[in-house]
Amino acid sequence: MIVAIDGPAGSGKSTVARAMAAREGLTYLDTGAMYRAVTDAALTRGIDVADAQAVSELAHAIDIVLDNGADGPTVTVDGQDRTRAIRTPEVDANVSAVAAVPAVREAMVALQRKAAESADVVAEGRDIGTVVFPAAEVKVFLSADASARARRRAVQRHGGDTATDANATANAEEQAKIEAELIARDKADSTRETAPLKPAEDAVRIDSTDLTVDEVCDAISELIAG
Ligand code: C5P
Repeated sequence: MIVAIDGPAGSGKSTVARAMAAREGLTYLDTGAMYRAVTDAALTRGIDVADAQAVSELAHAIDIVLDNGADGPTVTVDGQDRTRAIRTPEVDANVSAVAAVPAVREAMVALQRKAAESADVVAEGRDIGTVVFPAAEVKVFLSADASARARRRAVQRHGGDTATDANATANAEEQAKIEAELIARDKADSTRETAPLKPAEDAVRIDSTDLTVDEVCDAISELIAG
């Protein structure tokens, strides 16, 4: 069983996918974390993210392990914990360039398919329903207004939880900056040649702007139940 959740940055994919994993006993697969891990490794080692050859060699050489521990998902690269390091603004700003390199995608897609060989998964990303698992039983394209996405991100950055506090507010200036960053990243992700961000033809579209996490999960549970 594979549940595919695609959508733009900050649409709530991670929160929803993690909640669905807990609800349905599925393994959570954060494919964005893999592209982030390659980006973080390039930045750490002084590799130019515009150098496609060097970045793809790096992607094939490093050992990326995603683990779903009791305290939440972790990411290690060559045995080193990079869970927090892959979420910096610097990684945000460079990850789309890394993810646009076809050979990087080949390596990551292979890892993603391997993860699903031995487990039922809920995978979130940009090309899960279109490229990675085109035969997934359930495909969702999750979106939300850019301002709602930016607000959630801003609240999260300060340790708030938009899943439990739907009215949480953020600093307007910070929110505007995050919104511009999300829009730029979506543009880069949806206009690249290889596996651009777009809904699979058979994906069910869910707009989460005015929905709670539970409401989105209820809709996906209904799809799983058929
Ligand atoms: O989901 P997240 O925001 O962590 O993804 C980070 C970046 O990784 C995206 O902006 C995109 O460039 C890339 N990505 C991708 N394909 C995926 C998942 C993420 O290209 N399946």
